Amino acid sequence: MAGKTRTTASSGSSGASGNGTAAGVLVVGAGPTGLLLAGDLAAAGIPVTLVEKRPHQISNLSRAFALHARTLEQLDARGLADELEATGQPLSDLRLFGGLTIRLGTLPSRFNHVLVLPQYEVEKGLERRAVEAGARFAYETEVTGLSQDADGVTLHVRRADGEPGEMRAAYAVGTDGLHSAVRQAVGLPFPGKSVIRSVVLADVLLEEKPEQLLTANAVGDAFAFIAPFGDGYYRVIGWRRDRNVPDSAPLDLDEVREIVRRSLGHDYGMRDARWMSRFHSDERQAPAYRVGRVFLAGDAAHVHTPAGGQGMNTGLQDAANLSWKLAAVLHGHADPGLLDTYQSERHPVGRSVLRSSGGLVRLAMAERPWTLALRAALATLVSHVGPVRRRAMGQITGIGYAYAAPRGAHPLVGRRIPDVALTGGRLYEALRGGRFVLITPRAFDADGRKDRLTVGHWASGRRTTVLVRPDGYVAWAAEAPDAARVEEALVSWTGRS
Ligand SMILES: Cc1cc2nc3c(=O)[nH]c(=O)nc-3n(C[C@H](O)[C@H](O)[C@H](O)COP(=O)(O)OP(=O)(O)OC[C@H]3O[C@@H](n4cnc5c(N)ncnc54)[C@H](O)[C@@H]3O)c2cc1C
Repeated sequence: MAGKTRTTASSGSSGASGNGTAAGVLVVGAGPTGLLLAGDLAAAGIPVTLVEKRPHQISNLSRAFALHARTLEQLDARGLADELEATGQPLSDLRLFGGLTIRLGTLPSRFNHVLVLPQYEVEKGLERRAVEAGARFAYETEVTGLSQDADGVTLHVRRADGEPGEMRAAYAVGTDGLHSAVRQAVGLPFPGKSVIRSVVLADVLLEEKPEQLLTANAVGDAFAFIAPFGDGYYRVIGWRRDRNVPDSAPLDLDEVREIVRRSLGHDYGMRDARWMSRFHSDERQAPAYRVGRVFLAGDAAHVHTPAGGQGMNTGLQDAANLSWKLAAVLHGHADPGLLDTYQSERHPVGRSVLRSSGGLVRLAMAERPWTLALRAALATLVSHVGPVRRRAMGQITGIGYAYAAPRGAHPLVGRRIPDVALTGGRLYEALRGGRFVLITPRAFDADGRKDRLTVGHWASGRRTTVLVRPDGYVAWAAEAPDAARVEEALVSWTGRS
């Protein structure tokens, strides 16, 4: 893994200087995670290049199809949520299987629903933002290995013409999916296992509209799930216990129909599949998200079952957590130690997502009497016991996650902050600059930090002073602090003015 310092990038870089010290970031993989990360870094004025092995073409085959509340909040903080909301189909109930329904109407978020829309619509919006912010794209460029040293990272790449090349930057992030070449190049394992095999997927038209917008059921030896994209097509996912074949086995619509009939009673007259696929689902997590100057995010760092629709959502949250930290360190506003908090904050969330989506799929596949009883009990608990419902809702939608706070910190520290009203606007609009937001009851002069700090005032007249990180979590808070305490917090989080 360790390599010698290279003095120049021989075939492109995100800002290598002639004396060997590198600048900027190389992001490997232009999926949703890489696109959000590169857009954030470019918007923060960091030189960034997205390295992608595919030609420039966003697939119109959608893997993920659901955006949860916390992701919508992050997209709102980037000015993208409203246009995606106009494209997708909001669903207020999340039916996971059988009697387990999570009603999202009471979610304490501007987005109290799940938004069904194809992954490619999310990628289109994120790509446009990244291009507008000045991110560079190197398509048809495959990363084959990397080396790193004290000053930077050198990616070894192969271009479309087969020619090898090198690209160099201060940091690299592997957002290159399940089979991540970056993860392998830094020598990280990807421990875990396949959980469910031979799941079928079809995007189809339906003659009869299902009674429920989101329809799901499990009957012991099969389950099926149907959700509308809003453009006339429906996503169908199904599984049958006795059909355990490799992903490469041919799939026709009759097989999908049969599984849906078995699970839901009828097949809704499905026809005209625009995409069909057979896949298996792994549960894996890298033991570390950082090795030196190289980071992993999204599917490169964790994969799990599609149950609960959390894969893309978790990757986008990883990117939102890492981007402002890399920008702060590269601008010299934060100590490089800040980058370690990416691992300490995001790795536990990845582990929790693995557990919850794995638990859901195992309950959906339940066949033994005790697992069926457990499933029924869980459905009752989630439906009738407030704290259990709120916990389940918080995990699936992402709004329930908080990061560790130092001992003795204000209770808000580490928590997600909702879209509170500020005088003259709202918080998630104020976050669109990619800066910290200081919400204070008093006038405050941000001069000297305007490049990294926005000042806002509670519309409610609340007295707490809160410093909000660019990713919408509370960095620091205090009741009636004096000016010196506020300055101390600002120096520690945003650097000297
Ligand atoms: C059937 C199905 C349904 C799903 N449903 C949902 C859902 O409802 N909600 C949800 O949140 N998630 C869902 N997911 C998961 C979701 O699709 C992924 O979590 C998401 O695409 C991960 O995004 P990513 O950017 O991390 O990686 P990817 O989207 O995999 O992107 C990785 C990119 O890296 C590129 N790349 C790979 N190797 C290299 C290399 N060596 N050099 C250069 N480039 C490289 C690839 O070409 C690709 O463009 C689903 C997945 C499946 C299969």
